[in-house]
Amino acid sequence: MFWRLLKLGTMKRCPNCGHSPLFNGYLTVRPICDGCGLDFQTIRSDDMPAYFTIAIVGHLLLPLIYWMEVNYHLSMGLHFSIWLPATIILTLGMLPSIKGIAMGIVWYTLPKQPSEVRTRKRHKLTDKKNYKN
Ligand SMILES: [Zn+2]
Repeated sequence: MFWRLLKLGTMKRCPNCGHSPLFNGYLTVRPICDGCGLDFQTIRSDDMPAYFTIAIVGHLLLPLIYWMEVNYHLSMGLHFSIWLPATIILTLGMLPSIKGIAMGIVWYTLPKQPSEVRTRKRHKLTDKKNYKN
C-alpha cells in the first residue's frame, strides 16, 4: 500500500482510485475525485509537504554545496548564483508531488466512514498482490 500511495502521490492522483488529479493548477486541491467521489477537502496535509520538501532539498543540496566549497573555493556570488536557483527549482518542482504523497498518507491514516471502507476493500481486491492470495 505504501508504494501505491507513493506512486499515486508522485503522479498527483487520487489516493483511492488513481483516476482523478488531486490539484487544480499548482497546489489547489480539487473538491472531490471525479472517479470515486472521494472528498479531497477532508484530506488535510497542512505543513507536512513543506517540511518534507525542505528536508529533502536540504539533504540533496547541502552535501553538494559543501563539496563545491571544499574542492573549488567558489566566491559567495558564484555560490549564490548556482545554489539559489537550484534550491528554488528543486523546491517548486518537488512540492506538488510531495503534497500528493502527504495527502495519500493522511487519507490512508484517516478513520474511515462505512461507505469509504467498502470502497477501500473493493480496491484491495483489484490489487495484484492481494488478488493472488
Ligand atoms: Zn478517486
